[in-house]
Amino acid sequence: MQPKDTTTNEGFKGFTNKTCPFLPCHQGVQREFNCLFCYCPLIAYECPGPYEVFTDKNGVKRKDCSSCTLPHDGYHQSWNFIQRWLEYPVVWSGHEQTDPPVRRPRPPGQEDGEE
Ligand code: SF4
Repeated sequence: MQPKDTTTNEGFKGFTNKTCPFLPCHQGVQREFNCLFCYCPLIAYECPGPYEVFTDKNGVKRKDCSSCTLPHDGYHQSWNFIQRWLEYPVVWSGHEQTDPPVRRPRPPGQEDGEE
């Protein structure tokens, strides 16, 4: 297997499932619709949203991500977004969407680093 950082084939960064009956499941996507992150890897972590918070039948607070296009808007862009936010994932506390959005968490001592 060729390491990801040397291959020129970037097919692993996204795809569009054109046979999915729910496509387009999020409105407002401008670029290629990326289905790779259909279940967003940030669902349990801090993220910039936008999301709504609801409580499920088991009393668990969850995100409703219907209005978010970040994991779907462009193969490269959504791939890079997810990789950056998973560099230092911080578990989401169940809080509401903030304005301005949550800043990307950084390790202690690097909080003021460049984006
Ligand atoms: S709001 Fe967007 S980035 Fe955050 S968990 Fe939902 S889909 Fe992922």
